[in-house]
Amino acid sequence: MSLKDLPPIREALEEYGLLAKKSFGQHFLLDLNITRKIARLAEVVEGQTVIEVGPGPGGLTRALLEAGAKVIAVEMDPRFFPLLNGLGDAAPGQLHLVQNDALRVKEADLIAEHAPGTQASVVANLPYNVGTALLLKWLTGPWQPRSMTLMFQKEVADRITAQVGDDAYGRLAVVVQATAKARTVMDLPARAFTPPPKVTSAVVNLTPLMDRPDAAMLKALERTTQAAFGQRRKMLRSSLKTLGGTELCLAAGIDPDVRAETVDVEGFLALAKIVLAQSAT
Ligand code: SAM
Repeated sequence: MSLKDLPPIREALEEYGLLAKKSFGQHFLLDLNITRKIARLAEVVEGQTVIEVGPGPGGLTRALLEAGAKVIAVEMDPRFFPLLNGLGDAAPGQLHLVQNDALRVKEADLIAEHAPGTQASVVANLPYNVGTALLLKWLTGPWQPRSMTLMFQKEVADRITAQVGDDAYGRLAVVVQATAKARTVMDLPARAFTPPPKVTSAVVNLTPLMDRPDAAMLKALERTTQAAFGQRRKMLRSSLKTLGGTELCLAAGIDPDVRAETVDVEGFLALAKIVLAQSAT
């Protein structure tokens, strides 16, 4: 059977008697029009390697396979494997299933095993409970994807893309935008999912920067943003006291009397640079 002859995902889900498990953050996209749109937004092309986290019943996986991608799908819940194997049979050589926790896998090893020599993108309707942890793993960890097209709760998408001055601006926006270009490309109402979550969702497209800060600098940035936004109502001279307070701010060219929410990503990078230099002495 080829991909286009497969029954609708909803039917396959019923045939295998699969119900969503809350503990795994399962909210499925069963409408292929939506999953195909996500594959288009991810600009998936023939032969491209894609890592998908949490294929579940395979609605997004199917759209990625239709677009010609080679998909390495990491799923924790083994109940979906019989159904996903059927999907793989309909697209020979294109789907590699991995039963594991995406937080623990080494993506570089998976690519070396299943698609050696290729640079992979990540496309996923992420489980909400580990979405930000996975994003930070891909942005600040040793393996970097070519691009990421990821579904988050809308509130998290807003925190990722927020600009200085926005209510949602905080640590996540600073760390993400210091390492990638991020923009929301689609909003999806709760009713698009089975079962519907309590909140609206959004797809965010992220392109890692070529010259992202190194690991030591990222650590300094995390320390700085944690201190600054941990006490976001305070002026920097006070919230950053343990890191150098007024002197630190002046050395970085930042007014010590402003609050964290008014400092842009460049400003935080300047502060982190001094924090890093101090810790090296
Ligand atoms: N991609 C499917 C779709 O769009 O219909 C399912 C998305 S559902 C929001 C999240 C999926 O991630 C579930 O299949 C769940 O079992 C899986 N999952 C949850 N935690 C995971 C983890 N740590 N590693 C890998 N998969 C995980």
